[in-house]
Formats: sequence, C-alpha cells, structure tokens
Amino acid sequence: MSDTTYDVIIVGGGPAGMTAGLYASRARLKTLMLEKMMIGGQPMTTTRVENWPGYPGGIEGPELMMKFQEHCVEFGLETDYGTVEKIIDNGSSKTLIVDGKELSCQAVIVATGVIPRKLRVEGEPALVGRGVSYCATCDGAFFRDVPIAVIGGGDTAAEEALYLTRFASKVTLVHRRDQLRATKILQDRIEANDKIEMAWDSLVEELISDNSGLTGTVLRNVKTDETRQLDLQGMFIAVGVNPITDLVAGLLERDDNGYIKAGENTHTSVPGIYAAGDCRTNILKQISTAVGDGAVAAIMAEKHIEELQHS
Ligand code: NAP
Repeated sequence: MSDTTYDVIIVGGGPAGMTAGLYASRARLKTLMLEKMMIGGQPMTTTRVENWPGYPGGIEGPELMMKFQEHCVEFGLETDYGTVEKIIDNGSSKTLIVDGKELSCQAVIVATGVIPRKLRVEGEPALVGRGVSYCATCDGAFFRDVPIAVIGGGDTAAEEALYLTRFASKVTLVHRRDQLRATKILQDRIEANDKIEMAWDSLVEELISDNSGLTGTVLRNVKTDETRQLDLQGMFIAVGVNPITDLVAGLLERDDNGYIKAGENTHTSVPGIYAAGDCRTNILKQISTAVGDGAVAAIMAEKHIEELQHS
C-alpha cells in the first residue's frame, strides 16, 4: 500500500472482490483490493468447478482463481494483504483501519465471503489438524487408505466425499436427514460410488481420540435414537457456512444469520458501501452469482463517486 487514498477499496479477494476490482480498474477508478490471507476465496478450497460457463469438462478452483487474478492484473488492479479492522463512514469519504493503518476512499465494496461452520461437538477444536478438517482439497491427501467420514448433506459435503474417495479406503457420508440437499448430479455420483457409504438420519454425538488424534466417532440415529461407533482416522466437516461480517457490525444492517442486508443492487444501509457475493443476503452462493455481484457493486461505486463529484 504505497498510497493511502483511493476511489474504491474492496475488502476481500474472492470471485466477487476480484470481479469488482476488474470492473473498477477498467473504469479507471483508483482501486485497492485487500485480502486477509489468500486471494481466490472459497474456490481455492474447491476441487473441480463444473458450473462456471466456458469450461466444458470443468476447471480446478485454484486454476480458475489464478486466471481471475491475471485478468485483474491486466487492468492494473492494486492488491495488498491486510486485515480490515474497522470501516468508518464519514459521509462522502470512508476510512478503513487496516492493521492499525488508516486508508481512505469514496466507496467501499465488502466482499468478505464466508467461512465453514463448526460442528460444535466436544473436542472438535483440539482435533483440528489431528484428524478433523474443514477442507478436503487441503488435507485429503493425508488420509490415504484409511477410513474417513464427511459430515453434511449439501453440495460441499457431496463434492468433498467424492473427492476424498481418491485417497481414503472408505468414506462414510453422515447426514442428519434421509435425503441429501446436494444437487442431483452429485447425488447420482454418490450413489454410484462404491467407496461411499451413507449414514442417513445421523448426527455426530462424540469424537473419539487418543494421543495420535481422531480414532473414531459415535453417531446417533435421530429417528431411532440408537448410537453406534465408527472407526475413523479423518473427519471432514461440511455443515454449511457463516458470513464474515463482524467487521461491519454496528455499521451495516445484517440479517439474523449475520449476512449483510443488500439486494441485487448491492446497496447496503450506508450510502457508498456495497456488499457483493456470499457475505450478502442472497438465494444462491455460486461463483457466477458472486461475479455478477462484483460487477454490479463496481458500477454502483462508480455512479456514487460520479454523484459525489457533481454534488
Ligand atoms: P449448505 O448447502 O448450507 O448445506 C449444509 C449441510 O449441512 C446441510 O445438508 C445441513 O443439513 C447440514 N448441517 C447443517 N448444520 C448441521 C449440523 N449441526 N450437524 C449436521 N449437519 C448439519 O452448505 P454447503 O454445502 O457448504 O454449501 C454452501 C453454499 O455453497 C450452498 O448454496 C451451495 O449450493 C453452494 N455450493 C455450490 C457448489 C457448486 O455449485 N459446485 C459447491 C459447493 C457449495 P440439512 O440439509 O438438514 O439442512
């Protein structure tokens, strides 16, 4: 960060943030995209993305995100790493406190995305990295030829279960209902895969471990109340996501689940601050919807800046 004053600052470097960055830079706005850890967002932890148009046969999530980044660079987007601690609304300007340093801009695009939800079972935090994981692409290869479980019934759980069959001797997909929420094509693949066994109507009651890490789990059938023990060496938790919006608490209106209240036009409760991608209230969380949001937010920011200049 050589300068401290920008037209637009984008918080978050996932598909929404990068698209906003591409559009804003292409509109010749002085734009900075800030990322806390790793540019690319959720698709960096995804295997094959099959529903991003233009790539018949699919493309690996990280490869697609690298292409997004290259595209942003082409239009001169400035990016930097830093944690945004606070956003202050001063009316026509906004101040961001980033790792203790002040940056200012006329418009902010919040594209902070989501993080995987915890299961909230006793012992879970202590077993992270010792058998418990929230990312199959990151940790899957550590579980070669051993039995593992995936918890959840959505697209992420289904994709992770399928991916993990490359390594594990057996994958038990544990779901609390008798029907998956995942899209039909994934359900069909799960059914056709001999390495995946379903544990329907089941919840994780207990994690069993020794000094080496996770060794098993106790599952409870929610219909019969029966419990059974499953020997495992790995558990991948994919029970949904939570929005990363703590930094705007008290500044922007959020819904009961913490998502920033913003419609299709990405306008938040504060003029000049826009919310794009998975961190806003929306009905679909996809790369394609995040990309659409990023484009809209950048155009909204551009209009806002134009209006400020003419007021
Ligand atoms: P999700 O769709 O919200 O699914 C979460 C799953 O976890 C549900 O099956 C839910 O059960 C279960 N669950 C929630 N809390 C639980 C608990 N405490 N114990 C046990 N199970 C629990 O989350 P996601 O799969 O992470 O997906 C998030 C979003 O990203 C979705 O919109 C999804 O479509 C999208 N996504 C898309 C793709 C793709 O298009 N390729 C890939 C990944 C994710 P219930 O079903 O009973 O509620």
